[in-house]
Amino acid sequence: MGDKNVLVIGGGTAGLSAAVELANLGVHVELIEKSKFLGGHAIGYACKAIENTCVKCGACMVEEKLQSAVFHPNINVLAASQVQNISQNNRFSANIRQEFLVIDPEKCTNCGLCLNRCPMEGAILQGFSKNNHPFYAVNIKKCLYFKDRSCTICRDECPETAIDLDKKASEHTIEADAVLIAIGFQPFNPKDKPYGYGRFNNVVTGLDLERMLKQSGRVKKPSDNKLPQKIAFIQCVGSRDAKLNHLWCSKVCCGSALRMARLIKERQPKTEIAFFYMDVQTFGKDFELFYREAQKDIRMIRAIPGDIYEMDDRRLKINFVNNSTHETKEEIVDLVVLSVGITPVEDIGTMSRIFKIGPDESGFLRTDHNGVFTAGTVQGPMSIPETIANSGSVAWKIKKYIDGLTIDN
Ligand SMILES: Cc1cc2nc3c(=O)[nH]c(=O)nc-3n(C[C@H](O)[C@H](O)[C@H](O)COP(=O)(O)OP(=O)(O)OC[C@H]3O[C@@H](n4cnc5c(N)ncnc54)[C@H](O)[C@@H]3O)c2cc1C
Ligand code: SF4
Ligand code: SF4
Repeated sequence: MGDKNVLVIGGGTAGLSAAVELANLGVHVELIEKSKFLGGHAIGYACKAIENTCVKCGACMVEEKLQSAVFHPNINVLAASQVQNISQNNRFSANIRQEFLVIDPEKCTNCGLCLNRCPMEGAILQGFSKNNHPFYAVNIKKCLYFKDRSCTICRDECPETAIDLDKKASEHTIEADAVLIAIGFQPFNPKDKPYGYGRFNNVVTGLDLERMLKQSGRVKKPSDNKLPQKIAFIQCVGSRDAKLNHLWCSKVCCGSALRMARLIKERQPKTEIAFFYMDVQTFGKDFELFYREAQKDIRMIRAIPGDIYEMDDRRLKINFVNNSTHETKEEIVDLVVLSVGITPVEDIGTMSRIFKIGPDESGFLRTDHNGVFTAGTVQGPMSIPETIANSGSVAWKIKKYIDGLTIDN
């Protein structure tokens, strides 16, 4: 194990990639993740290969990074943890608070008995990936023990005595030679858009759809669990929007939505798909070919809908103005998918305060000064491959920094 220590804040694609790169270079990494599971947003994405041919969506690359990080001898993971404050003399000294994790990762064998025996739906959470360890976590908002002490079934039945329902939160101090902020992005919350998200069951986001495809391989209507006959995708929700002052293109949502649309056509060929867009962002030669193929199966409509209404039979009526004829039109579908964009994550405010660095004019954070670095979508929209490449190069900068070499800023 190396004698240098790097604190990586955020265990998504960026944090995992940088941690693995540094660990392979012999640097010890303390990886702090806020949620109970590693992997960030992209660990919930489905593989979108069509006819067993890779479409370069990047989902498997995140699995690979997670697998490499989880049992790496140079990486110590603290899940459900956050930095409280940090001071810098020669080294950084960070105070970390770890919420109580009821299941002990050292003991749990991921047998799944706790999930099977638990009487309360939603009280035992599962990770999105088999590479999450532990694969299970207790959700204290649903667990009956935390409500009224009326149940201890999982603790009593766990064959490894891995469950401690009385576990307390803990404080840790970590000394580090450099810090990497990789806290990622926040998907745009479309509840204030006139599309009925949060009010109509059959309006979902692109991230909801990714998770549905990963977990069940099929797309069903949340209202009745039946297959939809007609789906509409609406692009640029929360991106390229002057009213919101979100002028940036999120870059990844067109590719993600088109790949999901094609996957649905392959698995549920009777489903009709309409795709509302302003311009489709196609990146690279391969994607242009993919886009041409996609247009054979998917009805492309160049318009951004004004609003959506739910009909008595739960179908959704989409109103829009046709961009070429300027006619007002409507489309009736069973399921609407909102392609929500990448926006700055709320903890950028906390990081700015702790590290005394200001965000850019769009609210994203970028630095590589005085031992504090950023990587991944905390800097702005990036795809998974871009995030991995960016984090790899930042890891090398960190290595040079801690070795005392000059770095180009
Ligand atoms: C709708 C949608 C679809 C997409 N589809 C694709 C696709 O098909 N292909 C593709 O290449 N890209 C896609 N992307 C982009 C992809 O999600 C990102 O490239 C990737 O997730 C970036 O990883 P990240 O680590 O920067 O951020 P994140 O995935 O957001 O990970 C950040 C991590 O930091 C943690 N964190 C946050 N705050 C703190 C804190 N204070 N302390 C500790 N930890 C913290 C979070 O819990 C999280 O685990 C899509 C994005 C969207 C919005
Ligand atoms: S029953 Fe125990 S060992 Fe099995 S998954 Fe649950 S916590 Fe882990
Ligand atoms: S204590 Fe009971 S309700 Fe809570 S997670 Fe365990 S089995 Fe489920």
